Amino acid sequence: MERKRGHRTLSAGELARLLAGLHGQGYGRYREIRGSYAYPAFTLEVEKVQVDPYAPPTRLAVHLPAAQAGLPAELYRTPVRRRAIADHLARRLADALARTAFAVDAGGQEVLDRSACQVTAGGDVVLRLGVDLPGPGRRIDGRQAERLLCRALPEAVATLRWSALDAEEARRFVATVEDADALRRMLPELGLVAFVADGAVLPRRSGVDPRPLTGPHVVRFSSPPSLRVEVELPNAGRVTGMGLPEGVTLIVGGGFHGKSTLLRALEYGVYDHVPGDGRELVVTRYETVKIRAEDGRQVTRTDVSPFVAGLPTGEDTADFSTPNASGSTSQAANIVEALEAGARVLLVDEDTAATNLMIRDARMQELVAKEREPLTPFVDLVQPLYAEHGVSTVLVMGGSGDYFDVADKVVIMDAFQPRDVTADARAIAERHRTGRVSEAKRFPAIRHRVPDPDSLDPVVRGKSKIKARGTDALQYGDAHIDLGAVEQLVDPSQVTGVGLALARLRDRFLDGRRTLAEALDRLEAELASSGIDALRAGYAGDLAAPRRFEVAAALNRLRGLRIAG
Ligand code: ADP
Ligand code: MG
Repeated sequence: MERKRGHRTLSAGELARLLAGLHGQGYGRYREIRGSYAYPAFTLEVEKVQVDPYAPPTRLAVHLPAAQAGLPAELYRTPVRRRAIADHLARRLADALARTAFAVDAGGQEVLDRSACQVTAGGDVVLRLGVDLPGPGRRIDGRQAERLLCRALPEAVATLRWSALDAEEARRFVATVEDADALRRMLPELGLVAFVADGAVLPRRSGVDPRPLTGPHVVRFSSPPSLRVEVELPNAGRVTGMGLPEGVTLIVGGGFHGKSTLLRALEYGVYDHVPGDGRELVVTRYETVKIRAEDGRQVTRTDVSPFVAGLPTGEDTADFSTPNASGSTSQAANIVEALEAGARVLLVDEDTAATNLMIRDARMQELVAKEREPLTPFVDLVQPLYAEHGVSTVLVMGGSGDYFDVADKVVIMDAFQPRDVTADARAIAERHRTGRVSEAKRFPAIRHRVPDPDSLDPVVRGKSKIKARGTDALQYGDAHIDLGAVEQLVDPSQVTGVGLALARLRDRFLDGRRTLAEALDRLEAELASSGIDALRAGYAGDLAAPRRFEVAAALNRLRGLRIAG
C-alpha cells in the first residue's frame, strides 16, 4: 500500500531509512518511495516506480537549482544555448553513470531538445533518468538501492556542477551548436538550401555506426570555387564551404565516388551535431525532407494526381488510398505529403527512388503512348515544383542524363571531391538533344487534408499506449506504424516524441475542421514556446522533440487514419 505523502518533501536521509526498512520486502513495495526528497544540492523526484524488476525502469527527476548548478549566465541566455548546454549535461551525466543501474538518454551524434536534460531560462537544471531498482528474487535490495539513490546519484550530479565541469569543453559544445543553428538560419537570405563546410568529414564508420570515418583514406570536403560561399558565424568567425542554391541541383558521378554520402549528410543537416562529428557545419534548411520509394506503405486519401493519373483500374488518384502502395505511388505520396506538411527542400537518391517515377526517356515515350502510362516522371515536375511552389530539390542521379535539361546546378562527385560541372552538362544537353517531350507544364496546388482526430486514438483498454521500437516503428494504440523508410529519424526518443505529438494533435489541434498543416503549425508553435513539456504531460519516459515532418509521416502511415475532408 502506498503511503500518502501529499506534497510533503522528505529528506534524503529519510529516503535512506525508508529503503533500509524495505530491505527484503516484496518488490512491489518499492512503490512506497514515490515522492520528493530534498538532497543538500537538489530535489529528487521519484516519479514512477517499476512494478517488478523486468518492467521499464523507475523514473527519476533531479531538480538542480541555478545556484547549485552554477552555469555562467551566458550559457543559458538563448534557447539554442540552453538546448546545447542541456544536451552537454545529459551526456556528462550519462558518462558519470555509465555501467550502473541508471539509464540516461543522452543521444548520439545529434543535439536534440530532449527530456533527459532541460535548462530553464533562469539557469535551473532538470535531469530525467531511469534506474533499475535492485530486486534479486523479487525481493527489495534496500541496501543496494540506498547506495544507488543516496550515494551514486548525488555523486554523479555533483560532477555536473560548473565548478566540476571542464569549462572549455562545455563552452565548445555550446559554441558548436550555436554556429550550426545560426548557419542554418542564414540559408534563406543567402538563397541557399544547404551549406557544406570546407574540411567537413562526411563518411560514417558504417551503416550502423554514425561516428565519423577515421584513417588516412578519409577525404575531407573541399568546395568547388564556383559554389564557394563565405559566411560569418558567431563563434567560428569566417568559414567557407559549398553553398547549394535554391532550385534544382543534380549530384552526379561514378559509383562509389561519394554521392550518397553527401546526400546523407544533407539529410541530417537539419540537426546540429556534436563537436568532433565532422558534420558540425553541414547544414540544410530545417524544412528539408528526404524522399524515397517505400512500397507496401499505407496511403490514405492523398492526392497523387501530379504523378499518377489514369490508372487502368479507373481509381481516382486525386483522392488515393491503398494499404499496399507500389514503389512509384509510395514515392509520389511521400512527395505530396511532404509538401502538404510544409517541406521547402526535397532530397532524393537514385539508390532508393523508384526509377519509373524518376525518368522516362525518349525511346520509352515513343513505345508507350502517354495515354497508356499513368506516371508522370519527376524529371518533368521538378522545375514546375520550384517555379510554382518555391520547393527546391537536390537529387543524386548517376544513371540518367535526362536531368541535365532541368538542373540549375550540376555537381560531380569525383573521388569524394565535388566539382561544378553545370556548364559541361548544359553543353552536353545542347549537343545531344534527347527528343523527349515534357509530360507536364505545371505542378498543381497541394490539396490539404483534414484528418479525423478520432482516428488517432492511442488508448488501448483504458491506457494510452505509445512506444518506440527503435527508430523504425512506433506502437501507437493498437496500431504498428512502420517508420523504417522515414530516414531522418535518428533517435528512438524522437519516435516517442512523434507518438506523443500525434496524441497531442488529436487532443488539442485537430478538430475535424482544421487541416493537417494548420494543426502542425499550432503544434510547432507550442513546441517553440513550451518546449518538450508540451508533449511530456502524463508521460514519464524519455523523449525528444520531433520535427513536424516526421509527425506527419507517422500520421500518414497510420493504417486506421481517417480523413474527414
Ligand atoms: P555513391 O553513392 O557515389 O555510389 P557512396 O556515397 O555510397 O558512393 O560512397 C561509397 C563509399 O565511399 C562508402 O563506403 C563511403 O563510406 C565511402 N566514402 C564516401 N565519402 C568518403 C570520403 N570523403 N572519404 C573516404 N571515404 C568516403
Ligand atoms: Mg549511392
